[in-house]
Amino acid sequence: MIPERVCALDLSDPLVGKKAAFLLPENTIYLDGNSLGPLPKAAKAQAEQTISQQWGEDLITSWNKHGWIDLPQQAGEKIAKIVGAAPGQVICCDSTSVNLFKVLAAALTLQPGRSKVLSDKDNFPTDLYMVEGLRQCGLECALDLQPAGEIINALDESVAVLLLTEVNFRTGQRYNMASVTAAAHAKGILVVWDLAHSAGAFPVELDACQVDFAVGCGYKYLNGGPGAPAFLYVAHKHQQAVNQPLSGWMGHAAAFAFSPQYQPAPGVQQFLCGTPPVLSMSVLNAALDIFADVDMNQIRVKSEQLMALFLQTLEAKSTQLVLVSPSNVEQRGSQLAFGHPQAYAICQALIARGVIADFRAPDILRLGFAPLYLSYQDVWQAAETLAEVVSSENYLQPQFQVKQKVT
Ligand SMILES: *Cc1c(COP(=O)(O)O)cnc(C)c1O
Repeated sequence: MIPERVCALDLSDPLVGKKAAFLLPENTIYLDGNSLGPLPKAAKAQAEQTISQQWGEDLITSWNKHGWIDLPQQAGEKIAKIVGAAPGQVICCDSTSVNLFKVLAAALTLQPGRSKVLSDKDNFPTDLYMVEGLRQCGLECALDLQPAGEIINALDESVAVLLLTEVNFRTGQRYNMASVTAAAHAKGILVVWDLAHSAGAFPVELDACQVDFAVGCGYKYLNGGPGAPAFLYVAHKHQQAVNQPLSGWMGHAAAFAFSPQYQPAPGVQQFLCGTPPVLSMSVLNAALDIFADVDMNQIRVKSEQLMALFLQTLEAKSTQLVLVSPSNVEQRGSQLAFGHPQAYAICQALIARGVIADFRAPDILRLGFAPLYLSYQDVWQAAETLAEVVSSENYLQPQFQVKQKVT
């Protein structure tokens, strides 16, 4: 029986109507929107429209007729509103990894005489791998990895670029973007923020924090669908001086002049490389409309309350799960991570009961809280189910121990 106080929270929830914008399977509580957002109804309709009408009927005229060519800017501006960026600084394109390559190279070339890229040793691996790849391409750079607690102390005049993911993908620990960016700037360091677990999850203020560059993901909290294109942000203050190395024709000032000489487009458009993936970008573009009338502060308030309800419900049951996320909500994104030696099997047993979470090696059960489609009742039910799975040791059954390719 769902307690009355939990039902009351749903009744007074200003975001309660947003759940209807999504197609969610029956009897499923989805706590993995931090890895792959669910399907918005408008995204499904757009996919059908883009394929049947636009591609099927209007063929190549759709580049103009249906504005395919403008999708990177159009989706980019919708994302800009979500991450606190004034127009003209965000563009939708490529994957987060590829966007990291472009903005890191751009940032490094703005810092002559400095070559160190400082990052968190627990950063998402692709962020670190891309620095390695740039070095192998001949760009002078060296990666300095520090634990989160040492980052501020490691900021000095030898550092060219500070590369951080705002919310740690395993633990959910969140940096203070405003103070870290200011501390880096005080030493002449440019800052690149990865917003994979921030964009769409809570308010981000790129302009107000005077961030230099940012990248982020389209398929997590922005619900753009599997492999949806990503985005990048280049602050106005750098757009005149900056260059990016993947100088493809879509970033040219006049792509359809077909000139043999590369001439970068003005502004953030220079960061485009090749033809946009129209099928997936049109789907993301439609999915983003869900945010058009949403106050990101309301999303944060509800996210904090959902996480608090989950923790209270779980604590009342005493399990051996150890919270590895910060207990102080201010230092946390919109996820909870629990350590347990059997985290993988627990996750599988949870999924078998309709509560979808994920596992991150070596021993973390990760739960994402996306306020647009999760109710308080969902979250209460998920905590009860988790407590039950752990205390019954149901996860020890052999079918829950089999590791799959994607965890
Ligand atoms: C999910 C994620 C990515 C994903 O990068 P792709 O290139 O889209 O695969 C990058 N960075 C972080 C921090 C992530 O969590």
